Amino acid sequence: MEELNPSLYGILNSVENQKLNLVLFDLDHTLIKPKEDRVFSKDSNDWEWCFDNVPSKLKEKYSGKNNFICIISNQKSLKKKESQWKEFQEKIEKVFNELKKEDLNVSILVSVENDYYRKPLTGMYDFLKEYLKKNKNTINKSNSFYCGDAAGRVYKNKKKDFDISDLFFSKNIGLDFFVPEVIFKNESNPEFKLPVRKYLECSTQNTPHLPNDKTCVVMIMGPPASGKSYLGKMISERSGCEILETDKIKDKTKMKKKMMEKIQNYQSVLLIGTFPKKEDRVELLKDLDKNIYTMCIYMDTSKELIEHFNYFRVESSENKIGLIPEVAYRVYNKNFQFPDNNEGFHIVSKYNPCFKFDNKKLEEQFMFYYPQK
Ligand SMILES: [Mg+2]
Repeated sequence: MEELNPSLYGILNSVENQKLNLVLFDLDHTLIKPKEDRVFSKDSNDWEWCFDNVPSKLKEKYSGKNNFICIISNQKSLKKKESQWKEFQEKIEKVFNELKKEDLNVSILVSVENDYYRKPLTGMYDFLKEYLKKNKNTINKSNSFYCGDAAGRVYKNKKKDFDISDLFFSKNIGLDFFVPEVIFKNESNPEFKLPVRKYLECSTQNTPHLPNDKTCVVMIMGPPASGKSYLGKMISERSGCEILETDKIKDKTKMKKKMMEKIQNYQSVLLIGTFPKKEDRVELLKDLDKNIYTMCIYMDTSKELIEHFNYFRVESSENKIGLIPEVAYRVYNKNFQFPDNNEGFHIVSKYNPCFKFDNKKLEEQFMFYYPQK
């Protein structure tokens, strides 16, 4: 298997100048599964087809040259252990050898990190699209589909689906979705239930108002990926405040120095950072002249919305922004002290962001389905 980028491995067949139907499959528990009902394969021989007719069905239905068959698989845990990764690659070779006996040319993409390339985020699909486009192919979306077992199904007499990520992925990439039983057993799709996401419903809260006859220092604080920069941008566009972010100016002393310089020129400043500790906030404010109007805006974003926004940033930046790991939130919560007026603020207010985007693509990506706990 070839390394396509640090997060993505694969084997991609070359096709040129075709109008293609994408025939996309999840791998584990969709096409193959470990023997004897194990959840994970113990070695490269520990696999069997999920349905006896997998190769013959693929051949019968999708062997035409306008069909591009590709397996799209999440394998985050495998890459951590060299031996397991080797077994996995050998297993894929064996699976592909069986498929070749039926003259089937199948491609595969395997994501190995928790990032833009991991389903239900769309990196693997976007990569495939780009690859096919480069070779002058076009995609017939209405004849394309994605098939996977993680569809959030609940059964009466067996364990429910372990996840809903395959259904989410199909929604995000905008392709028809089938569970494996539809393709290989001629059953019809069950009725799917997408979660109701109350945390995405919001009413626009007015952005905090700054007095325009005073030089202001506004601190926007709160957990990572809670919408601080988003709010900062809105305030700055309206009031012309200069933004100073701890993401860019990491050093506290430098940040303070920059702030003081701006204020001396009667320039209002927005300080954006997590600022969980009281002592850090006090240190920034303590030398300010009494005439400077100081405000603290604390992001009161729900946990679910933070999680959603965290993934949205990865998706919309196409992996340029990394996922904030859980440990960062644990550290933040451990250090967090509620802000109050005694720290030197004229006013402390809470803000609950309502994300709206004027760009259509961003608005769509914001409505994508992201992993849920
Ligand atoms: Mg699966």
